[in-house]
Amino acid sequence: MDHPLPGLPRRRADVVFTRVQVAVFVDGCFWHMCPLHRTMPQRNGAWWAQKLARNVARDKDTDERLREAGWEVVRVWEHEDPFEAADRVVALVTARRSIRPLRGPSRDRVSGTMRDAPVLAEHRVPTTGGAV
Ligand SMILES: [Zn+2]
Repeated sequence: MDHPLPGLPRRRADVVFTRVQVAVFVDGCFWHMCPLHRTMPQRNGAWWAQKLARNVARDKDTDERLREAGWEVVRVWEHEDPFEAADRVVALVTARRSIRPLRGPSRDRVSGTMRDAPVLAEHRVPTTGGAV
């Protein structure tokens, strides 16, 4: 699932919690140069080096812009345990909810306070590295 980001029309997060402003990215180890699994293709090495460096720079820029806009950014590596990653996201979303209490009539309804939960349930489990 790709979600457009506020003010960044050409960029996408994997999961977005709009109410608490948390954006989750699942980064492929190859495409985003994971420190554990980064590799550089031999063929067209210079081209790849430039392309991958551009990806990393764009990630950093995306994070900065989102944080400036008040969002929290979570980046999950493709190699990470998806359940542990989900726990991290849930903890963050829960924390953000407590500092930004819900207002309005939906506050006391479970469906209202849990509105974001189905998004996580639908969240795709990180698999093999997809091009981003
Ligand atoms: Zn990795």
